[in-house]
Amino acid sequence: MSRTSTGRRTGRRGTALAAALLVLVTLPAASTAASTAASTAASTAHGAVGADRDRAPAGNVQGRAPADDVILLIGDGMGDAEITAARDYSVGAAGRLALDTLDTTGRRTTFSVDERGRPVYVTDSAAGATAWATGRRTVNGRVSKTPGTNRPLPTLLEKARRHGYATGIVTTASVADATPAALTAHVTDRSCKGPADMAECPADTRAAGGAGSVVEQTVAARPDVLLGGGADHFAQTVRDGPYRGRTVLEQARSAGYQVVRDRAGLTAARTDRPVLGLFAPDYLPVEWTGTPAAPGGTAPQRCAVHNPARPAGTPTLAESTRAALGQLTARRDRATGKGFFLQVEGASIDDRAHEADPCGQIGETVAFDRAVAVALAYAGHHPRTLVIVTADHGHATQILPEDARPAGLSSTLVTDEGGRMLLGYATTGPGGTQEHTGVTVPVAARGPLADRVLGLRENTDLFGTVCAALGLR
Ligand SMILES: [Zn+2]
Repeated sequence: MSRTSTGRRTGRRGTALAAALLVLVTLPAASTAASTAASTAASTAHGAVGADRDRAPAGNVQGRAPADDVILLIGDGMGDAEITAARDYSVGAAGRLALDTLDTTGRRTTFSVDERGRPVYVTDSAAGATAWATGRRTVNGRVSKTPGTNRPLPTLLEKARRHGYATGIVTTASVADATPAALTAHVTDRSCKGPADMAECPADTRAAGGAGSVVEQTVAARPDVLLGGGADHFAQTVRDGPYRGRTVLEQARSAGYQVVRDRAGLTAARTDRPVLGLFAPDYLPVEWTGTPAAPGGTAPQRCAVHNPARPAGTPTLAESTRAALGQLTARRDRATGKGFFLQVEGASIDDRAHEADPCGQIGETVAFDRAVAVALAYAGHHPRTLVIVTADHGHATQILPEDARPAGLSSTLVTDEGGRMLLGYATTGPGGTQEHTGVTVPVAARGPLADRVLGLRENTDLFGTVCAALGLR
């Protein structure tokens, strides 16, 4: 299974990092920042990050970083095939999604490592997110800890908070799932979401002197905005430490969080306290539904652009993103101009591709793209915002000739422009779960330091880019 980690061995972890550094120091310095001062900072940043990715410079001589805000949008499992399928279906083969309108584009590697630092060509989402959250590759299944020695690695969110930025996380998964967790927690295995889920993380338990489960660590990390699913994880009882015997939700309220459960609550949330939005027990229900791919194919189908199992009050990813931007903007430091770091994840693109559910997958990609449009609209009014759109890994989808007879599962969709699109899923046999793939993924950006995504970059490079943009050391 692509979601679990393998055995643990002590080892060497320098090879991949050295390769990443070599790429950084041999590429030309960034040159097209928003202003002359920002451009100077960018050039300086490039060399400095190559020398030590934990020590990005603070910006120009006046101390202002190249960007005020960074919005990082992650389509989980959203490789080129998944983007193309969503484009073909929803806006037509010659149409353009919002994410297609970003002209500064490149590719990122996606590989992870084993416990000795050797490449593992197909990542899971935990190692994938750890790469940009910490600038270091780790083993599949691990969350922001080193591959061999299992030590915590500082994250972008922790650094941003320390530098006085507001921080936010929005996802369609549980906020304890691997991609958001990589910013707020450090656990041996991604399965350790709540205090009752610690079987794979003995060293991380509070009883063993560790920092506890993902949700406990996330509350302690205290992002200003935390929106997604995962109510079941917060309902668990803390087993050790000062909150022993109380639920993680009670811990969150003690830390000052206002807890909202639906769109109305989110809209009414105050901006003078952190906000925790728990819109589902675990993952949020998906937006679209249809017939899953099947051996020998399906009858040509149109996707239903609604899901009867989705409660009416559930905010869309775009609505949560807009609310998060409102919350974070209200926290901007008037004196320094310092804004925020926000990560937005479309999580169920991956989940639906695992299940060979083309309509669910495309609906989640379209929903993600609407969140991208919200981010771009914000950046249109705030030009010192760096927007980055990328994925953590590719997935199983293939777009095939209409008359193909693929060996695995397939489905024919009738697109909005009236074409027939055959999608195949054949990374595993019928009844199995489709697999991630090891392809490079697209990355696109707009705003200060956007040109740092050009070309083929390492999956760890986004860490240095965000650090340089916000002046994080
Ligand atoms: Zn996955």
